Amino acid sequence: MGYTNRKINNDSWLIQCDSHVSMYLIEGTEKAMLIDAGMERDNLAEYCHGLTEKPVFCVLTHGHFDHIGRCGEFAEVYLDLKDKELYRQHSIGPFLKEINPCCKEAEELLEMQKEFDLGGIQVVSVSVPGHTLGSVVFCDRKNHTVYCGDAIGSGCGVLMTAGLGSLPLKEYAEGLKQAIMELEGLGVDDEWKFYGGHYGQHHASRISDHNLPCLQMMKDMRVLCEKMEEGNADIQESIKESPFGKAKEIIGIYGCAELQLLTDLK
Ligand SMILES: [Zn+2]
Ligand SMILES: [Zn+2]
Repeated sequence: MGYTNRKINNDSWLIQCDSHVSMYLIEGTEKAMLIDAGMERDNLAEYCHGLTEKPVFCVLTHGHFDHIGRCGEFAEVYLDLKDKELYRQHSIGPFLKEINPCCKEAEELLEMQKEFDLGGIQVVSVSVPGHTLGSVVFCDRKNHTVYCGDAIGSGCGVLMTAGLGSLPLKEYAEGLKQAIMELEGLGVDDEWKFYGGHYGQHHASRISDHNLPCLQMMKDMRVLCEKMEEGNADIQESIKESPFGKAKEIIGIYGCAELQLLTDLK
């Protein structure tokens, strides 16, 4: 029940919850930054204050219901406001009903900043539009760590479905291209650690039993999108139950990248 945590580097914790959503708390000398707000019933702000004495603010990797559920407990919450409408739907919509969520009003959200100074640690936000229009990843340059939310999945495939606000693959490929350039400009390379929004899913990969997100996965994902667009990717097709009824599921694989595309049955 509730939350568990473990330290993943000198300054940061991975916080897990029952619903298999992962949050991350980074502590600087001045303040602490919580990445995502899960979808649990239990008070998350209190839990964070058990880990750090610094004031905590919250940043959201994107507007999906499973990442926003307790953000209303924090005074400052940042989202790329391109996901504002999606956030609004998900914060008041049916997905979170069961848990009695504590979400900010969409109007109270603050626009994502390019850089957050926690005191001794600078965290840079980088847009990766695709999974949603306003998806961002966070780059901790001190600890050589990227927190990638659902932007490239957590190791067993990024979910792409228009029903949850995903973009066409062509636009995702372009978003990845820009993001890879920006991340490399920030010094990100294959040695950096990537942590996704659903830590643990790397064990459920179709490619290997330990397929952690990484910079190479972003590069392979871009090629995969292009191949799927051109119709020459390695794919498996099936019909699946989705939150929106029966849908066609296409799984694409290239290198260490996996993509799950859900489309309406036509
Ligand atoms: Zn998502
Ligand atoms: Zn998610």
